[in-house]
Parts: sequence; C-alpha cells; structure tokens
Amino acid sequence: MGCCFLRGGPPGLIPPPAAPRHPAPAPRGAGGGPPDAALPVELHGMIARDRCNVCGERTPGEPLGDRLPRCALCGGLRRPDVVLFGEQLDAASLASAQSMAARADLCLVIGTSAEVYPAAAIPWTTLHSGGHIIEVNTQPTSLTRAASTAVHGKAGEVLPALLE
Ligand SMILES: [Zn+2]
Repeated sequence: MGCCFLRGGPPGLIPPPAAPRHPAPAPRGAGGGPPDAALPVELHGMIARDRCNVCGERTPGEPLGDRLPRCALCGGLRRPDVVLFGEQLDAASLASAQSMAARADLCLVIGTSAEVYPAAAIPWTTLHSGGHIIEVNTQPTSLTRAASTAVHGKAGEVLPALLE
C-alpha cells in the first residue's frame, strides 16, 4: 500500500517495502521523531535495509552468506527492517502517519486492497478530517465509494498517464 498526502508543503509518503537501488540507513528521527521531521514515513519499513534485533542499528541490507548476519556495533542478529506478519507497526510511525492524514487535503491511495489495518485506516482519517481520497487500484475496494476519484488500472500504467 502506498499513501501520499498533499497539503501545501512537501508530500508525506508511506511507501510499501521496496528495494531502492542504493539503500541508505533510515533518516534520523524516522519512526520516532516529530510528525514532519522524517519524511517519508516508512510504515512497513524498508526491505533493502537491515535492523539489529538488539540495539536497533539500521544498515544497508546485505545478502545472506554462510553465517547469520551480525550487528557491527553489538553483535546482535540483524534482520530485514520490515514489519512481518504478526508483528506490530512502529507506534511512533503510525502516529506520524495518522497525524499527517488528519491534516491532509488529499490522500492518494495506490495499489492496495485497503483491508489490512491499521494502515487501511489512514485514508479514512483524511476523509473524516475533511480531506479527499483518490484511489488507484486494479479493482474496487472498500474505499472506492468514499473516494473523490477512483481509477482502476495498474499503478505503473495509470500514474504516468495522470502526469501527462
Ligand atoms: Zn546491534
């Protein structure tokens, strides 16, 4: 799921886990800073980054070798820096996303079933705060009727066409 909020300033992005070409450590304050201090909010983390299970140090992800990956700082086990099924979202990141959603004029909701909570509640926060929803998805969802505009198609095709 991806959400983008628009309101006069820089947009806040909540991308799904993705693999950038050159992953960087999380920006300072990500997941714990004030709502606008660390954009984008990585609600579900970043698959291309690792996180230490002990001290929380974030580093660019590395492929698994013959040994378990260890933290250079404390020796703890490293893992992909993403929220896995059964794990809780980071409370500060979720609060940051909800805060941005409540202040947004528009929430773009792209490529999601809009069924997995708590992330699925974010567009509803914008709507209930007086904002609008634009949905881009291959099929209708529970958001479709509430959206000001719903475009059904593949995001990779629809979004470039919207920008032309
Ligand atoms: Zn560590």
